[in-house]
Amino acid sequence: MYVYLVAFVPLFYLVWIKCIYDRHRHTLRSSLKSTMNVSSERDTDGADVRALVVTAHPDDECMFFAPTIVRLVALNASVHLLCLSEGNYYNQGAQRREELLSSCATLGIPASRVTIIDHKKLPDDPKAEWSISLVSSAVLKHITAHSINMVLTFDGRGVSGHANHVAIYKAVRHLASTGELPKECVLLSLETVGLLRKYISFLDLPFSWLLPSHLCCVVGSKGYKQAKAAMLCHRTQLLWFRYLYITFSRYMFINTFQTIPQGPKNLKIY
Ligand SMILES: [Zn+2]
Repeated sequence: MYVYLVAFVPLFYLVWIKCIYDRHRHTLRSSLKSTMNVSSERDTDGADVRALVVTAHPDDECMFFAPTIVRLVALNASVHLLCLSEGNYYNQGAQRREELLSSCATLGIPASRVTIIDHKKLPDDPKAEWSISLVSSAVLKHITAHSINMVLTFDGRGVSGHANHVAIYKAVRHLASTGELPKECVLLSLETVGLLRKYISFLDLPFSWLLPSHLCCVVGSKGYKQAKAAMLCHRTQLLWFRYLYITFSRYMFINTFQTIPQGPKNLKIY
């Protein structure tokens, strides 16, 4: 009896994951529709989505956002990437720039939609304090120039806790409070999950599915291979622990986002 139970529970869990994945494939469009507050009867066509992924370093796009980029590109959305540094911490900026372009091409973002900022006040450095106004104005400029209606970036814990990731979240939150954003533009922050969930790969799917989020993007084996191929483009970063990350990280399969609320932080009504 005990043997059957030991065999049945993992099997049941894997079948459950497969069911959730199949359901997700059919509900992403309606999920996008509700996230973007589309009021029409039809589902949001992916082509209506003009998404901007804002990252701090070359490799953030595939380490953390690959499932979202792959799914949005598959829905024919226009996906742009704004990377706020060249990743020059070890003076490899020029090489990392090329690696980023290859990674983006692998994920389906053409070079014409990739912007890499190299600004002395935005160094790749966990000890550097990035200027909130500088980052938010760079993001706003990009939103306006490309008529972006969906911004995706880190949350307040930055997934890995890197200060540059957190600075982007603070800047986007600031932007959300200024009222300068176009009305139709939604802001989404990538959820940071705890250490255990972070490294159980696709086995995290039931947790991600059951816990509330405003947008959930999941890839299957094909999307995972794309994310892995993008990771391998970052040759300067391929230390042994990167291979562990590729094998075990939940962010290679699953992204969940929360909406960043917009409007004045301290609205006083007299
Ligand atoms: Zn980073």
